[in-house]
Amino acid sequence: MKALVYHGPGERAWEQVPDPVLQEPTDIIVKIDTSTICGTDLHILKGDVPAVQPGTILGHEAVGTVTEIGAAVTTVAVGDRVLISCISSCGRCRFCKEGHYGLCSGGGGWIFGHLIDGLQAEYARVPFADTSVYKVPEGLSDEDVLFLADILPTAFEVGVLNGGVQPGDTIAVVGSGPIGLAVIMTAKLYTPGRIIAIDLSDARLEKAREFGADVTINNGVEDALERVFELTGGLGVDVAIEAVGVPETFELATALIRPGGRVANVGVHGHSATLHLETLWIRDVTITTGLVDTKTTPQLLKLIEERKLDPSPFATHHFTLDETEQAYDVFADAATTHALKIVLSAVPVALDAPAGDRKVEPVGIA
Ligand SMILES: [Zn+2]
Ligand SMILES: [Zn+2]
Repeated sequence: MKALVYHGPGERAWEQVPDPVLQEPTDIIVKIDTSTICGTDLHILKGDVPAVQPGTILGHEAVGTVTEIGAAVTTVAVGDRVLISCISSCGRCRFCKEGHYGLCSGGGGWIFGHLIDGLQAEYARVPFADTSVYKVPEGLSDEDVLFLADILPTAFEVGVLNGGVQPGDTIAVVGSGPIGLAVIMTAKLYTPGRIIAIDLSDARLEKAREFGADVTINNGVEDALERVFELTGGLGVDVAIEAVGVPETFELATALIRPGGRVANVGVHGHSATLHLETLWIRDVTITTGLVDTKTTPQLLKLIEERKLDPSPFATHHFTLDETEQAYDVFADAATTHALKIVLSAVPVALDAPAGDRKVEPVGIA
């Protein structure tokens, strides 16, 4: 088969590799029908995630069709369409039993494209199938559920739920990339009073408005702190959600909140940030961090099935799987291509459309 293989910092290739085989009785083999690229994959290519060994197939988000099952697998059958999540769960360790699958100490957690071969491939071995994959309900396309593999549960759990968003709250979302936009989309499930989006790019802020932000602030042009205090009568916001992952945005988030407010960090940080306890200690603030557990995936799936949540605006570009290298170039250059998420599809697409602009026929709809 072919797959996107990491060969060390800056090096990747779509190339021939051995087909995956069942290794444990709890494994399944899945033919990947649809996959996507994550900002985390770009971090890996920069060399920021040294745990990823050269030779690893990248990717941790996909939808596919089961082609083989291990002897111990009981709830998944050959031919089933399944969502493969960025988080796997052994189902047996202390953390899995508490629903903290992201912290799984039994061989799960974030393993695809990290500790084992990932999902930007024609086929993949999927461990702990019974406790880790989700059957795709009939009537839903791959694209309907693809973003449940990572950004939607990440934004909802680590941002909205950790931040304790309540009806009527004023919330500030720092960063309007795919994760910040997914925070805006899922925060609206709780009917906040006002969503303030903060970013350095006007194009991204326009997206934030499309996704439901009420107020946008370009903090390269104006002072975000000053504007937020103006907008909140000098108090600050109820909840600030950090969705970038650099020290400046974390420090801004902690400065934006009212006394008793909550800061939820979603960003992946590579450097230390300053915690201003000299001003925060007396303000009764709560700061949370986390990796997604994906325990809300069934809930979000239900909302998509009921058409109460529509992830389709995230799919800005379409490529076939064998165009994955080209897709990485478009995704990495989001400042000019305005890419949010790229849909990589195994199915043939119309040949007359230019690459990256093709509409793929949804598969799996009866
Ligand atoms: Zn991801
Ligand atoms: Zn576990």
